[in-house]
Amino acid sequence: MIMQKFRSEYDVVVIGGGPAGAAVATLLEPQGHRCLVIESSTFPRYHVGESLIPHTYGTFERLGLLPRMRESHFPVKHCVRFVSSTTAEAAPFYFSETIEGERSHTWQVERSEFDEICLDNARAAGAEVRMQTQVRRVLFEGERAVGVRIENADSETEDVAARVVVDASGRATVLGKQLGLKTDVPGLDKASIWTYYRGGHRNPGIDAGETTIFVLPDGGWFWYIPLPNNEVSVGIVAAPEYLFSEGPKFETAFARELELCIPLRDWLSSAEQIDELHGIRKLAYLNRQVVGDGWVMVGDAAGFLDPIYSSGLYLALASGELAAGCIDDALKADDVSAKRLGAFVDPLWRGVEVIHRLIRAFYDPAFSFGEFAKRYPEQKAAIIDCLIGDVVGKNMSSLLDALAEMSPPPPPLHESSIL
Ligand SMILES: Cc1cc2nc3c(=O)[nH]c(=O)nc-3n(C[C@H](O)[C@H](O)[C@H](O)COP(=O)(O)OP(=O)(O)OC[C@H]3O[C@@H](n4cnc5c(N)ncnc54)[C@H](O)[C@@H]3O)c2cc1C
Repeated sequence: MIMQKFRSEYDVVVIGGGPAGAAVATLLEPQGHRCLVIESSTFPRYHVGESLIPHTYGTFERLGLLPRMRESHFPVKHCVRFVSSTTAEAAPFYFSETIEGERSHTWQVERSEFDEICLDNARAAGAEVRMQTQVRRVLFEGERAVGVRIENADSETEDVAARVVVDASGRATVLGKQLGLKTDVPGLDKASIWTYYRGGHRNPGIDAGETTIFVLPDGGWFWYIPLPNNEVSVGIVAAPEYLFSEGPKFETAFARELELCIPLRDWLSSAEQIDELHGIRKLAYLNRQVVGDGWVMVGDAAGFLDPIYSSGLYLALASGELAAGCIDDALKADDVSAKRLGAFVDPLWRGVEVIHRLIRAFYDPAFSFGEFAKRYPEQKAAIIDCLIGDVVGKNMSSLLDALAEMSPPPPPLHESSIL
């Protein structure tokens, strides 16, 4: 029903043109639903989070993005390697050990370029995209979302009606903040500092595109992600009280930790730092509710845990795809209730819960993946499923039971139903 105060009406308004928002619009527009994507920045724009995991392959295929990925200059990622802070020697874990063919590799992406590819793909599918336009708030009639108030670069505001509002605003968490749903994740308190170099070490052969994780003695870790143009993304994740023990400055903490991580320091010895230091003092957050009447959250707008397993982009794309399926169903049935829109939420968040448990095990000083593999060799395949991202819609209870034997399970992310 169009109300007088709205100048325009869409089936779906998507807040944010990142990978999650672009995926939703790309999949819904061809189903005959008019989609408007509102993006506050201009693309290309910078974003952290460059390492994909192989299970994104299926979503890329359904989004029609595989040809673009194949012809891109993004380094191909065949493996991930966990090493210590004293030596870079350790066997890589090759995805081809468990997956065959092209699905066994993925890419390390420059986000400015990758995100633009995704958003252009949504445009090519027919979605309307308004750049440099910010969603100020989501409009409700009673409990039901009915549209958004937007403001363009000339500070002009407009109310746009939508049958469904998708919050894909990333860490800005537009709806989470508006509705007061955003919470901390108890026990998962990490900070991160990162920057970029040119000319750092490259492994030979197919290992050139590997993600290397340097595990530090105090529970923190560095990532080393090779990017196009001989660039590399390097960042640390650790407890804030440890990272900022000598003061709040990113420079002090990053320089100290780099100095202590000898193999990483060696890999960067002839590299040039080409960007400033970026940082986030609190990485993890969640929303107590991720779907409601007329609205859905996808990607980082719903929550973010930790970058250790590079699952963020996979979850952004997968949640976008799963949400699109339910939105299509809800629009066709003319029933945009939380129940109908949120049919994807339970299987998705069960998968996220598995990743959560592995994240918590990684940070548990009493837990070791080496010991776990020795005690439970039959769980190797399940661990690999987690590393590649194949966790949604799967029964992982046997893995979780085994993990609980060695690392006490944390409280579940969502204690009760999130609907
Ligand atoms: C330190 C760190 C390291 C990471 N490393 C990895 C990694 O290696 N691999 C990985 O897969 N993931 C990684 N991630 C996570 C990854 O970056 C995110 O999961 C991913 O970007 C989520 O995509 P998204 O589309 O949900 O949100 P985003 O990509 O953040 O897109 C949201 C968009 O919404 C727009 N927006 C925000 N507010 C508004 C508004 N009010 N109106 C209109 N538009 C708005 C923004 O401009 C933005 O373009 C990392 C994250 C962090 C913090």
